[in-house]
Amino acid sequence: MRAGIGYDAHRLVEGRPLILGGVRVPFHKGLLGHSDGDALVHAIIDALLGAAHMGDMGSHFPSSNPSYKDADSGVLLERVAELLRGGGWMVVNVDATMVAERPVLAPYIDAMRQELARRLGVDRDLITIKAKTNDGLGFLGAGEGMAAWAVALLQEPA
Ligand code: MG
Repeated sequence: MRAGIGYDAHRLVEGRPLILGGVRVPFHKGLLGHSDGDALVHAIIDALLGAAHMGDMGSHFPSSNPSYKDADSGVLLERVAELLRGGGWMVVNVDATMVAERPVLAPYIDAMRQELARRLGVDRDLITIKAKTNDGLGFLGAGEGMAAWAVALLQEPA
């Protein structure tokens, strides 16, 4: 077994849809990024790549590449899943924590798990997500951005 950790944070701005875990969450702001800004998916991608010692998200999908402008991060997660399968890696589980002061994310967690599992090609029971606020502290607490942490456990190729 090999474990990997991932982290990501993005700035919240007006005029962008809020996409988290591949799910459109109704809110008056969205995450700014070269791609769709889906910090949850980005943290999970880095956790998976780290566990498989396959580099990081930036090395596979550089923001200098214009083809990733406004990219659907779910599609990038699918590509990572293909890389893992190609290397014989099996996903044991993925656990993630989202930090967002607002909106309340709990009603969307199940849809995110479903979407992430679909993109990864695994059972949704292997994906767990928690959502927390930052108790008003710092840039997260001020609602200036959102952050995500993820841990992935992979089974090594036989
Ligand atoms: Mg990112």
